[in-house]
Amino acid sequence: MKSLTIIGAGISGLICGIYAQRSGWRTTILEKAGNPGGVSTSWKRKGYTFEGGIHWLIGAKKGVPLNDIWTETGALRDNNPVFFKDPVYTLIDGSVRLDLRRDLRTLSEFAPEDRIPLALMRFHVWCFTFFHSPVQDISGLKVRHPRRFSLMEFIKMGPAVLLTPLLMSFSAGRYIKRFRNPHIRKLLEAVVDPQINALSFIYTLSSFTSGDSGYPEGGSLRMAQNMADTFTSLGGKILYHTPALEVADEGVRTEGGLMQSDAVVISMDARTAIDKLFKPRLEAPWASRMRRKLRTAQCMFIALGVKADLSGWPRCMQIQLREPMHAGGLEFSALTVNNYSRDAEYAPDGCTVLTCILPGPSYEYWKAARADGSYRQLKQEAVKEFICHVAEVLPINEEQVEVTDMATPLTYERYCDTFEGSYMSEWMPWHLCHNAPIRLHKGLYFTGQRTAFSGGLPVAAETGRRTAQTLCKDFGFEFVSR
Ligand SMILES: Cc1cc2nc3c(=O)[nH]c(=O)nc-3n(C[C@H](O)[C@H](O)[C@H](O)COP(=O)(O)OP(=O)(O)OC[C@H]3O[C@@H](n4cnc5c(N)ncnc54)[C@H](O)[C@@H]3O)c2cc1C
Repeated sequence: MKSLTIIGAGISGLICGIYAQRSGWRTTILEKAGNPGGVSTSWKRKGYTFEGGIHWLIGAKKGVPLNDIWTETGALRDNNPVFFKDPVYTLIDGSVRLDLRRDLRTLSEFAPEDRIPLALMRFHVWCFTFFHSPVQDISGLKVRHPRRFSLMEFIKMGPAVLLTPLLMSFSAGRYIKRFRNPHIRKLLEAVVDPQINALSFIYTLSSFTSGDSGYPEGGSLRMAQNMADTFTSLGGKILYHTPALEVADEGVRTEGGLMQSDAVVISMDARTAIDKLFKPRLEAPWASRMRRKLRTAQCMFIALGVKADLSGWPRCMQIQLREPMHAGGLEFSALTVNNYSRDAEYAPDGCTVLTCILPGPSYEYWKAARADGSYRQLKQEAVKEFICHVAEVLPINEEQVEVTDMATPLTYERYCDTFEGSYMSEWMPWHLCHNAPIRLHKGLYFTGQRTAFSGGLPVAAETGRRTAQTLCKDFGFEFVSR
């Protein structure tokens, strides 16, 4: 047996670990935090559970390639059946309510003036219905259960492949601007951050219409715990509260000493790793490009535990504000609010959890606040403002809010050491992400967010598998997936 050390028990590190362990490696995962999942996590506060990770799990549909990864790694099991929201978003703008349903049909009835752009959008979405994150075997590797990519699959993905360069070349916001009806525009702005490319927007919509994105019950932490259980049941070891300090030739240095191993996989944020884990710091053309050009996707996350039954309200509301909200030095004219009142596990009887992601570059703002001692107070003010805005629309008041929590980029930095506290990688128009390679040399590998295009859990999953295959190939192991 050869030994493998993986740095990070995020989704990508866990997936890599499960496949490696199954293929015959003796694997240890070092994790800085106290639980698995990395940024894909949920946590409890006074009887409430705050979902701070998965909103949409792509690959939830049985039969698509990514679903094989989720089932092979035990991420999806009987204890977390996937739920498919419909409507996926509801716009609340004064007296106007407009649903984004999975079939997209209601939009044309609402805005006949946008019949043509809506038909074009449905066509674009249809083109991506058969497009799935490619999960393939790398060449030259011995694989116990090979994945065959049939000619038919390839042909079905043709229209999406042809459209890709066009949709990559401009932003989701520009795509949405073509709609004349302001409510249609406001509703569609809930789907992805309007600054990222239109391809991500269309791909996300198509994952709704094709039924490929859902929400696993029990959320992020149960899914990550399921994967950690799979890994340990195969004989793998996870050492929590054990940060890796340095990658050396013989293995990984921790506070407890050097952990020798035949191979090392770095699954923590590669942008952080190239500066922190190598002494001297890692220098290579791709690393310099990353240092110069990488743009981080940052967000703030607010969660409330409210003593009120909001089960009559939509699950995901795009609330237009009369006055903008200010937080982290940014201004928001709308809030995308998730309502977990129908999910018994999230709140005590008759109570509700409300959460909201506020995207945008606020890292420097919060860093300055920490430096001058105003961090805690500014967070409290932001939460207070959030409650006031939400209370203008929902039947709640400040006294009913029992628990509040807020994460800033500094929170993600502190817990997961993501670069500038980013919460996922970001795909801007014509932007090439500036990734790290999967294989640095025989025995040293990267996986996760910064090793492939787009972002989110699909990238974590696909690269976790690909990295495990790469190290199996390097050391002459057969790759065993199930
Ligand atoms: C609020 C929020 C909502 C999201 N919503 C979605 C969604 O709906 N759909 C979707 O697909 N994606 C979503 N994402 C993004 C998705 O969760 C991430 O892209 C994905 O989980 C990243 O996985 P990863 O394994 O690559 O990285 P990470 O999760 O960053 O894992 C890296 C791990 O390494 C550990 N680590 C760091 N430094 C060290 C060290 N020195 N030693 C040991 N361990 C270390 C970290 O603690 C972490 O556990 C969301 C993220 C957030 C925060």
